[in-house]
Amino acid sequence: MYNAASLKAEEFISDEEIRETLAYADANKDNAELIDAIIAKARERKGLNHREASVLLACEIPEKIEEVYALAREIKQDFYGNRIVLFAPLYLSNYCVNGCLYCPYHLKNKHIARKKLTQEEIVKEVTALQDMGHKRLAIEAGEDPVNNPIEYILECIDTIYSIKHKNGAIRRVNVNIAATTVENYRKLKEAGIGTYILFQETYHKESYEKLHPTGPKHDYAYHTEAMDRAMEGGIDDVGLGVLFGLELYRYEFAGLLMHAEHLEAVHGVGPHTISVPRVKHADDIDPSAFDNGISDDIFAKLCALIRICVPYTGMIISTRESQKVRERVLPLGVSQISGASKTSVGGYAEPEQEEDVTSAQFDVSDQRTLDEVVNWLMKLGHLPSFCTACYREGRTGDRFMELCKNMQILNCCHPNALLTLREYLEDYAGEETKRIGMELIDRELKHIPNPKARATAEENLRKIGEGQRDFRF
Ligand code: SAM
Repeated sequence: MYNAASLKAEEFISDEEIRETLAYADANKDNAELIDAIIAKARERKGLNHREASVLLACEIPEKIEEVYALAREIKQDFYGNRIVLFAPLYLSNYCVNGCLYCPYHLKNKHIARKKLTQEEIVKEVTALQDMGHKRLAIEAGEDPVNNPIEYILECIDTIYSIKHKNGAIRRVNVNIAATTVENYRKLKEAGIGTYILFQETYHKESYEKLHPTGPKHDYAYHTEAMDRAMEGGIDDVGLGVLFGLELYRYEFAGLLMHAEHLEAVHGVGPHTISVPRVKHADDIDPSAFDNGISDDIFAKLCALIRICVPYTGMIISTRESQKVRERVLPLGVSQISGASKTSVGGYAEPEQEEDVTSAQFDVSDQRTLDEVVNWLMKLGHLPSFCTACYREGRTGDRFMELCKNMQILNCCHPNALLTLREYLEDYAGEETKRIGMELIDRELKHIPNPKARATAEENLRKIGEGQRDFRF
């Protein structure tokens, strides 16, 4: 039986409720009156539930879809302004005991090069990432209790935070590792992680079990209930995601929103972020082997709907997507993107050569340098941000949501974006990027509403020019 507040996976992600939702959406996809009422509700910026959202996803009336896109753009602007936060993934180890059919790290793959970074190699990787200008990482690892136990992950986090190379520093480490125990989540929290990210892959239990035929990840309930254990372990910021392409997107979308509703119902705070990865070609993985690939149009519609359904939840687009697709969805509500990513283990310090046996998790579509990405964002009118202030100021979970709800983002996140962009421009940018960026900062300073905050930002920007670093609101 469906119960958003239950702690049992099959009750808060009820297959029956999803099927009924999809039937309701089909029955109402041309019901203009209902669709108008749902869009009007979304305009109040308090979000939509999975039933309402599913009706909009099913709807194919061009004018209504245009309204959804326009509203997504508005909400993105109101809640996140033009800021886009940048990060990079750091692959620690691709040893894995699972059998995931879509991932080349699966145990049976004898062809892929298995690698696990030593602490010395992590120093090299992080130094290379700092030299690009990154301040925020998402660490990634396969699931392997022998090769990648929690102690290894914790040691890596310590090492990453300890590296101070020139003016560089990694100030926020987000973690994307397999579902684990409350005790281990507590240890991650104590190690000072930012967001704990875990993709559901698919909410469809039967498909989930087929796609994960062997290994600990086979257990649907253990995986689906992971965010509750993470929150029980003290992690306030969790990141959800579905791997689009594996199952029917409408089913996944309803499941994703039900998961967000569940977190809100049980913990009083929804997910910090939602990621929208699509299955990509990888070593022995052919995405066309999965029947449910989605077009760029559907992808854009999903992004816009996520924005209007969960306005307070950040949205992440990785380099799985091309420059063109990223350009299209950025204004629809994206708040974070990765830049200059390598999905191979050790790939930042020593990029893989064509003749190498790959250790990569998937092919990257957007292969530009971080400087190119920053430059491109600014030319499109976005404000690249390397901000990590919230979590360092203890603004996690509902405290971050308070900031959004009180509309303090422009007095807080906006100056932080300007300060961290200025650091980037001083330390890492190419000449043209620096010129465009300095002009952008001048213009954007005017958008800080509170005069005191604006004056402090100006003062700190000047100090950054003189060599000081790491100011934050
Ligand atoms: N092993 C951990 C787990 O099971 O959750 C960590 C995550 S893995 C390093 C990161 C994510 O990459 C997976 O959750 C999956 O959604 C995604 N992924 C795996 N294979 C992929 C592929 N071929 N294309 C795109 N994304 C893929």
